[in-house]
Amino acid sequence: MIRPLIAGNWKMNKVPTEAATWLGDLKEKLKQTDAGHADILLCVPATHLGAMVAAQGFLALGGQDMSQHESGAYTGEISAAMLKDAGASYVIVGHSERREYHKEDDALLNAKVKKALEHNLIPILCVGESEAQRDAGKAKDVVIAQLKADLEGISFASADDLVIAYEPIWAIGTGKTATADDAQEMCAAIRQTLAELYPDQASRIRILYGGSMKPSNAQELLSKADINGGLIGGASLKTDDLLALVAAAK
Ligand code: PEP
Repeated sequence: MIRPLIAGNWKMNKVPTEAATWLGDLKEKLKQTDAGHADILLCVPATHLGAMVAAQGFLALGGQDMSQHESGAYTGEISAAMLKDAGASYVIVGHSERREYHKEDDALLNAKVKKALEHNLIPILCVGESEAQRDAGKAKDVVIAQLKADLEGISFASADDLVIAYEPIWAIGTGKTATADDAQEMCAAIRQTLAELYPDQASRIRILYGGSMKPSNAQELLSKADINGGLIGGASLKTDDLLALVAAAK
């Protein structure tokens, strides 16, 4: 049994002072909630980490992106060491918004995964197909190719050192969700590929579903054998919704 991971992706939302107030609210509500069955993670803008670091006792923190470089003249970039020192233990790599708006390709993402691991940050590697690719019957081929390219030449000491998020692009922020059966089919294909790459660890690597997961659809998605949690955008911004998603993971 893999311990579920409920991971919020705040994207570019809230300011640090709001984040601190939000966290106080979540902490109070957690006292009245049975949440011990899941890990909670919030991937927040790097500017928010300082204001949220006190939360580490009850949830984990993550970044949303990082540089593939160690340090130096890369204006505007954030390094793995900076995220780690600011309190992050995870980092999202290859979110479709980075792939699309910042033209991040698989070679770059492979370098970012390597750099994250060098700094003991757990990468949450996002993979997913576009609507056109799904309609053309290519969803599995696309996702498996991304996975193999992004993980090329990378090994892991433990299954806990990697998280994969299956995020069909057409479902992110659109209100459209993959059916639980389709999401399971894709996550099973991902696990099968992981089994080829990491035979000793694949059965224990966490695979998340992401794409308009919300309290009304989470339970069905999270009941599937190869879906071990969620990467959640919009619904992670409200404490009540986040807690409902944690409850759905039981
Ligand atoms: C995401 O940003 O990874 C995501 C899944 O967003 P949403 O839940 O809003 O679709």
